[in-house]
Amino acid sequence: NSEEDRVNSDSAVRVAVRIRPQIPREVIDMCRICTTVTIGEPQIFLGSDKAFTFDYVFDSNSNQCDIYAECVERLVESTLHGYNATVLAYGQTGSGKTYTMGTGFDLESELPEASVSLGIIPRAVRHIFSGIERLESSCSSELTGEAGSSPPHFSLAVQYIELYNEDVFDLLDPFNKNSNFKIHEDATGQITISGASIKPISQPQDALKYLQQGALARTTASTKMNDQSSRSHALFTIFVRRQRVLSSVINPAEDNDLETLTSKFHFVDLAGSERLKRTQATGDRAREGISINCGLLALGNCISALGDKSKRALHVPYRDSKLTRLLQDSLGGNSKTLMIACVSPSDRDFMETLNTLKYANRAR
Ligand code: ADP
Ligand code: MG
Repeated sequence: NSEEDRVNSDSAVRVAVRIRPQIPREVIDMCRICTTVTIGEPQIFLGSDKAFTFDYVFDSNSNQCDIYAECVERLVESTLHGYNATVLAYGQTGSGKTYTMGTGFDLESELPEASVSLGIIPRAVRHIFSGIERLESSCSSELTGEAGSSPPHFSLAVQYIELYNEDVFDLLDPFNKNSNFKIHEDATGQITISGASIKPISQPQDALKYLQQGALARTTASTKMNDQSSRSHALFTIFVRRQRVLSSVINPAEDNDLETLTSKFHFVDLAGSERLKRTQATGDRAREGISINCGLLALGNCISALGDKSKRALHVPYRDSKLTRLLQDSLGGNSKTLMIACVSPSDRDFMETLNTLKYANRAR
């Protein structure tokens, strides 16, 4: 049974669908709900006859905590053990990508509702810090079974960039317009961007401060540039470096073997997936639309190749866009990837929802 095989195998790429609740405007306009979820199964119906099955399906009543606990938590654990991970939010503008990733949150808010509605990134940040505390204070033999090696020591850093028209912007250094950002691949296959700032962090608040700073740089640019944010990809990355002394006799006079593991967690708020013709784009806007679709198209092709065992060995077309090039060492291989396809429940978005489900279906 191929369906069972798919669910059982710990595949490199998993796909979740999240249906947001109707927003007040849709209620006022008396939009009908055209999505239904099969109880107890990760299956969504669009209209009465279009069914799709994914790894996870979250109905509009599911909350931020459900999403995190069911599909993101395990990825955070794997980054603490040296694996790369990526969470991507895909969907049309207004479908809940930013809400789900949690980049638009209010740091100042003390309201309890604010903490319940925190999205994936602030939850992952807290979890990474508490996980590190646990690992650093634990006795080494508990972790590895080998006596003598010291507990690991972790250091963390973040990067926040935007991809717009195949150009890179550093959201943590927004006035650095001249920098010549270059994407490099080192001998071990690690991808880095030269010219983009990397900020060390030592407490959760540091990460959240940079997240907010970057979100502000993004919205400031977007009011000037015709809502750039819905047409660009935002990548927030947490770098984790884990070091541990391996020698069985720890002797400060000699060089002990130092084991270093590095990993990164990418959180990607993708550009809106809506069709060009719907926004009736012309001129520059059309060009933007085309290059955005180039990133989303390449991403779809890479993820689909990774999911297809016969294709995977042959070719994964990472080089077809900056987006996939940047994610190359964090998609496939030993890395874990989660794509969250965000959709509106309302009938007026039927066609876009269908397009999103088809795209996500190719990815599984
Ligand atoms: P996108 O980033 O895809 O353009 P947003 O995340 O900005 O979409 O969501 C559009 C609107 O819907 C926002 O007002 C947001 O607060 C609201 N929204 C999205 N998802 C949810 C949800 N799961 N629960 C409550 N409100 C949501
Ligand atoms: Mg958004």
